[in-house]
Order: sequence, then C-alpha cells, then structure tokens
Amino acid sequence: APRNAEELARAIARDGVEFLLVMFVNLHGRPCAKLAPVRTLDQLLSEGLGFAGNCAGGLGQSSGDPDLVAIPDVTSYVKVPLQPGLGIVQCDLYVEGEPWPYAPRWILRNQLAKLAEQGRQLKVGAEPEYFLVKRAADGSVTVADELDTAPSPGYDAGAATRNFDHLATVSRTLEELGWENYSNDHEDANGQFEHNFGYADALRTADRVIIFRHLAKMAAQQRGLIATFMPKPFAHLTGSGLHLHVSLWEGQTSLFDDPSDARGLNTSALGYSFIGGLLEHAPGLLALTCPTVNSYKRLNAGANTLSQSSWAPGYATYGGNNRTHLVRIPDTGRIEVRAVDSAANPYLAIAGIAAAGADGIARGVDPGDPLTGDLEAAGAAAGLRPLPTTLLHAVEELLGDGALREGLGKVAGGEYADYYASVKREEFGEFHREVTGWEIDRYLI
Ligand code: GLU
Ligand code: MG
Ligand code: MG
Repeated sequence: APRNAEELARAIARDGVEFLLVMFVNLHGRPCAKLAPVRTLDQLLSEGLGFAGNCAGGLGQSSGDPDLVAIPDVTSYVKVPLQPGLGIVQCDLYVEGEPWPYAPRWILRNQLAKLAEQGRQLKVGAEPEYFLVKRAADGSVTVADELDTAPSPGYDAGAATRNFDHLATVSRTLEELGWENYSNDHEDANGQFEHNFGYADALRTADRVIIFRHLAKMAAQQRGLIATFMPKPFAHLTGSGLHLHVSLWEGQTSLFDDPSDARGLNTSALGYSFIGGLLEHAPGLLALTCPTVNSYKRLNAGANTLSQSSWAPGYATYGGNNRTHLVRIPDTGRIEVRAVDSAANPYLAIAGIAAAGADGIARGVDPGDPLTGDLEAAGAAAGLRPLPTTLLHAVEELLGDGALREGLGKVAGGEYADYYASVKREEFGEFHREVTGWEIDRYLI
C-alpha cells in the first residue's frame, strides 16, 4: 500500500488509473463516492472533495449544514481490475477542518487509538458471505444458478465449477490487489458463496470489507446478476454472516495466545477477558454487528432452515472449535466472532467489538468454561437467554450499555449511540408499520 502522496501518484501511474472513486461510508455502511480525475490528485489530497452530508444520509447532517469534506487516506488505495482505469480511495470526513465524529471510520480510528495508547493493535480477518441471485421482471428474487437446488449444498463442488467464471473473477481480483485470497467456496445455502483473504490491521480490514462488497457486486453485475449481502434473503435457507477473526497484539506478539492454557484452548487470561467482554456486551453489540431488521431472521434461526443448521448464534456463549457459539476459538491466538452479518458496517462493528473486548479486559471478566456440544439444539433446553430477537430489542440494549456508548463517542450535543439508535428505531418503525402477507394469511379470516 502507498505510504504517502508520492507513492500513491506512482501507484496510480503504474496501474493506469484515470479516475478515483473518492469513497466513504454512511451509518449503514453504504459506500458513497464521487469520481475524480487523477489530474486533480494534489488538490484532492490537500483539500479533499466536498459532499452534501444530508444527501449521503446517516451522517448527522441536515440540508443547511456546511460541506462534509472527504480527504483520502492514501494507504487505502486499490485499483479496480474489473474496470480498468478506475481506482478507489477511502476517506476520512471533516467539517470546517475538524474530524466529523459521525463518520464510522473515525469511530473505529478513535477506538483503535485508545488501544494504541496501551501499546496494542487489533487485527481482524473478515469472512464475507453473500448470495448470487437474479431478479425477474415481476420483482421476484431467485438463486442465479438454476441447478443449485439440492438441500444442504455446503461446499458443493458442482456449484463451484458451474459458477467458476464468477468465483475466478472475484479470486483474480483479490489476488491482483495483493489480499492473499486463499479460498472461494459454495456455502451452506443454495446460491451462497464466500471468499477468504488474509487478515490485516482492523482499519485496513474494515476498508477491505467495503471494497470487497463493491467489487463482488461489480463482478456479479457484469454477468447480469446481483451479489446480495442482505443477511437473510430466503427464509428457509441459512443467512449470510460476516465472521470476524479478531486478535490483539503488542508488536509481534498475539496477546490472546497462551500454550499453557488450563482450558486447553491455547488462550490467555487476557483473551478470555476479551471474550468475557464480548459475551457480556453481546445484546447491545448486536445493534452494531447485526444492524438491520432482516439481521434477526438469520440469528436464532435454529431449525428454520432446510439444512441441518443455521450456523448463526442464538445465545451469548463461546466454545472451542465449535460453530454453534457466538465466539469460536478455532485456532491459537485468535477468536472468531460469529454474531456479525453481511450487512454490518464493518467500522462500527469492529469498533463495538473493540470496545466490548477492552471493557472485558479492563474489568478482568471471566467467561467461565467453554460450552461443548451442538448449542443450536441445546440452547433453549439449557435455560440460556436468547440474544435480542429483533433490531429494536438490540437497540434498546445498546442504549443501556455504558461501555459501548463510550466506545462510539460523542457528537455535537450528545452521544453517537443516541443518534445511531434514533436512526435504527426509525428503520424498525418503518418496517413495523407495514402489513405483511403473513398477517393477511394469519388474521384476515
Ligand atoms: N452462514 C452462516 C452464518 O450466517 C455461517 C456458515 C459458516 O460457518 O461459514 O453465520
Ligand atoms: Mg462461511
Ligand atoms: Mg467462519
């Protein structure tokens, strides 16, 4: 990655880039951008580009406010192999010269800065899942691959070869970006795929999730298809997660790693406290990691799928190498957080995870012994309290969670958590005011 303006200019020339998508995300993680010719690079880097913040939405601006100014982070630059001549830079947002506290990228940066004060760095690997679908003229949505109908098609080799062109296009793209793509697979649901690439510093991975979604959508569109990151597009199929593999480091040392762990999971006391914090704050954290109305149809799904499992957590528990828990410890030195879905704004989700984990460390929270067995089947019977069952429940939990509120920071005249909650309550309210087909079928006569 370029480290300064000069290196960026060289990379742009080397890649034959003519235009930059000058990009940032709003509260929902939606990428917003203007296309700038690279001739303007010097000015772009010194002055940024102005945006009407209210138009981007979810950034705490109203129509009368001064411009949101987007200034590129040169280290975030990527070329877009699918559209020769195009590059992308992620930006930090300013208003009248000051960092704008409603910008999700700042919220993550601020959380990472707190860790850096303790000499610690958060590293994250992301596993994005999505469906490849098509939409008919009547609006109906179906799996793009018409032959992909078998129940429980996880890792289906036939699907991988039938969808080879798409999967290979995405893989080649990731390779060209130097992201070290190591696996591309058909997931557990019909039409569902996942691509894996190397882990990196938390901010870099958050940028990559945004860029990945954009590129996967481009690749699909070039075939007339839609790559959807909606968490649960089909009620009877497993949903799409964005599992985050998290580790905390001091220089070259992973602080989660301890081979002498009495619990046999090679995890340090500090790692357990991080997990303890995650589990304790899970109800409110979900408002950030599973941020849509639809997200809650992926969680708690249990047997509500055609396959044996939803593979998505219903309870705030952890285990060893066990995919039925919210936190899985797959390997030495890192943990997998499974209560994150494909619609998550990665900056806010990771900021929330960092805040929850740091609070667990600060208070030395012990998560107790790991659970074993298939929790999807056993959770309710074991008397465990389910995770929030709707977005509204999770938002109420977030509002009452001091550590998460503090992690999200302050905005003009208040706290970001309150702003976030007001946006999400409105989203839930909009949904809740609808009268659905299910209600007509159930209650009309
Ligand atoms: N699709 C599952 C989820 O919603 C995850 C499947 C897997 O373990 O990769 O989280
Ligand atoms: Mg997966
Ligand atoms: Mg995973």
